[in-house]
Amino acid sequence: MEDRAKIGSVIRQHLEAEQFFAGFSVRGQNDAGEFQEQEDDMAVARKAGELENLAEEIRQCRQCGLGSSRTNAVPGEGNPNARIMFIGEAPGADEDAQGRPFVGRAGQLLDKIIVACGLKRGDVYIGNILKCRPPENRDPRADEIIACLPYLQRQIELIKPEIIVALGAHAAKTLLDTTKSIGQLRGQFHEYYAGLDQMPVKLMATYHPAYLLRSYSPENRRKVWEDMQKVLTELGLPIPQRPK
Ligand code: URA
Repeated sequence: MEDRAKIGSVIRQHLEAEQFFAGFSVRGQNDAGEFQEQEDDMAVARKAGELENLAEEIRQCRQCGLGSSRTNAVPGEGNPNARIMFIGEAPGADEDAQGRPFVGRAGQLLDKIIVACGLKRGDVYIGNILKCRPPENRDPRADEIIACLPYLQRQIELIKPEIIVALGAHAAKTLLDTTKSIGQLRGQFHEYYAGLDQMPVKLMATYHPAYLLRSYSPENRRKVWEDMQKVLTELGLPIPQRPK
């Protein structure tokens, strides 16, 4: 009992510090008092635990061939209470080596995008459609997506983000179940349906940071910034000055 209270207090301190610095990541005000605060803390801790159990399941997964070619599975990481969830395509070589999403060059650009939005990596959740690297970074195959998607669906169900940002064509097309191009999909909100019994989640599609690195034109950067501005506006967050 005493331990639970201690854990609650440590988690609360952590969350309050986060809220102070980010003004963002923790949902709602605890105006119903101390008891409500503890309940909220326990709920976050429970959610983090469930996400970690799911991550462990992903690390053990051998449901498709990628389970034997990967070095590490990359379940995803971030704030269990994130308001924004970024979803990419699949781990690359750096992610496969480290077991963490978006840690290579594309990841560094994603970090810059997050910071440009006035946020930090720990405020959001970052995941992928596929949890294991396809050999030579080839495109995900349909059978791999079918095997892997339930993991992402369960992560979305647990985190309950207010907005999903789909990074690139593969993520956007998979989540929206469409054949439209990323050029057609980006720049406007769509709805992602996790299941018939669940509320749809707003989804913004934008260019993948790896594409942006390959085509680092002022126009493409402006488009991604415009997409992110729409996300911030939708969440009622301030829009920082446009990055250079
Ligand atoms: N590209 C992705 O789509 N996901 C990663 O995790 C890294 C690069």
